[in-house]
Amino acid sequence: MVSKSINGIEIFNNLSIKGTKRWKLDPPDICPYCSTHESILGIEVVAAYDGILFWECSNCKEKMLRFTKETTIKYLNKTCDLHIDLSSMEELMKMEPN
Ligand SMILES: [Zn+2]
Repeated sequence: MVSKSINGIEIFNNLSIKGTKRWKLDPPDICPYCSTHESILGIEVVAAYDGILFWECSNCKEKMLRFTKETTIKYLNKTCDLHIDLSSMEELMKMEPN
């Protein structure tokens, strides 16, 4: 079981964050993609960062950076250990007799 194939960069690419502009403390009042007012929500990623890691528009689902791409990937890399833990936990559970 090799779970190392998933890394922060792949997770980041899956998020499909188009822009490079960052909103560090507060999200934009108006979505830069669909122009909806106050539609931006903070997204937290468990085990990656204690707090909001990036923003997502609740209307058009476009995601926006809170940190630089490099920093976001660095945080996402922390979840890789969790994936491995989870998969090994699943293996352990499967091995348990009913
Ligand atoms: Zn939007």
